[in-house]
Amino acid sequence: MCVGPHLTYTKALKAFKIMGQSGAYWKNDKDNKMLTRINGTAFKTQEELDAYLKLLEEAERRDHRRIGREMGLFMLCDEAPGFPFFLPKGVLLKNALMEYWRELHTRENYVEIQTPLIMSRTLWETSGHWDHYKDNMYSTTIDDETFCVKPMNCPGSVLVYRSQPHSYRDLPLRLAEPGIVHRHELRGALHGLFRVRCFTQDDAHIYIRREQIRDEIVGVVHLINEVYTKFGFKYFIELSTRPENSMGSDEDWEAATDGLKNALESLGLPYIINEGDGAFYGPKIDFHLEDSLGRTWQCGTIQLDFQMPQNFELEYIDEKGERQRPIMIHRVVYGSIERFIGILTEHFAGKFPVWLAPTQAKVLLVSEKCSEYGHKVYEALRQAKVRVEIDERNEKIGYMIREAQVVDRVPYMVIVGQKEADEGTVSIRSRDTGETVTMTLDEFVAKITDEIKTRKM
Ligand SMILES: [Zn+2]
Repeated sequence: MCVGPHLTYTKALKAFKIMGQSGAYWKNDKDNKMLTRINGTAFKTQEELDAYLKLLEEAERRDHRRIGREMGLFMLCDEAPGFPFFLPKGVLLKNALMEYWRELHTRENYVEIQTPLIMSRTLWETSGHWDHYKDNMYSTTIDDETFCVKPMNCPGSVLVYRSQPHSYRDLPLRLAEPGIVHRHELRGALHGLFRVRCFTQDDAHIYIRREQIRDEIVGVVHLINEVYTKFGFKYFIELSTRPENSMGSDEDWEAATDGLKNALESLGLPYIINEGDGAFYGPKIDFHLEDSLGRTWQCGTIQLDFQMPQNFELEYIDEKGERQRPIMIHRVVYGSIERFIGILTEHFAGKFPVWLAPTQAKVLLVSEKCSEYGHKVYEALRQAKVRVEIDERNEKIGYMIREAQVVDRVPYMVIVGQKEADEGTVSIRSRDTGETVTMTLDEFVAKITDEIKTRKM
């Protein structure tokens, strides 16, 4: 019937649930008898089974594809399978994430570049992608020459580095690029924002001298830790070491692997070693973050690379005036921004903190008579750069609150009735506590703008 593994007897299944059933022909031949195939899940105890079923239910409730549709964040359509469209509210969310990202990277002395989406095949031959990654790359012909749509940002960054001479004083040179990349994935493997064919990598390539490995890695780990901690993610770290058939000298590999280890140890961070699982050109550190359901996602990576500087003959001039080869660090924090948005959507079940929420406040009018005051409140919030909407429909207030809270998941509902208009106040209902508090309009503007500015979680 199937290759197994099999149980010798079903008595071992203490707690189980049938999850589905279907018809199947004996030996997969339609002339044979139809059998019934059942599938299910089993655990040692009822508690474990209950916990698992609860997790499935919760994951279903938090599915980013459904929440994304309800909140108007993004869409996917048959005309572009695996190439997501971002809708106005999804773009607001993406921009809020990138604004935070840019602030941190500017502070850490990164500079930002933008490189072309389409570059000549010869470039991808030099980088090694044409040999190792061709099947996942889209290509086209321009002026009888093959060009490729970039699956990674590195070769573009390398061309920027190589476009001018560098001195040891320029290093570390941190070139950031939130670059759009395209990678072919089988249609059946596509899944919401988690598995797509086009995404934005929050990439950066850092060019360093050998003796800068440790300090630079420490800096990047700090940055990634800061971001994950901000979102309330726990995470674990994996260090992948030299694989068989790798390129480069023993000396390079030892320096690189020690550099990564030293950095993690000096930070007192625990890590798991994945022996022989590094890339063929260098060792790497992967960050696996854990969401509110306990599921883990590989997001951040830091990769040391001796090979690409070699392939492109990158150089800098050292203190003695001699030519030296820099080392390259490839690193991402969010990983894919689109995928990170999918993870955040499920992590928060769409209830984004105020600074990320596409709509931060929604003014709800109790009756038409308060329309003038309602607009005053709306304008005051707009002037304070709050992402605010106003609901003027002739609906019952309970209905409008429900929609704002459950469908749009707006953090603050600003309820305006005759009493508020007379007193110059607003009644603020919090999405998260369900409580309603009355305060002056100025007090509310101060409160919400402070939460946005400090990116309160
Ligand atoms: Zn790279």
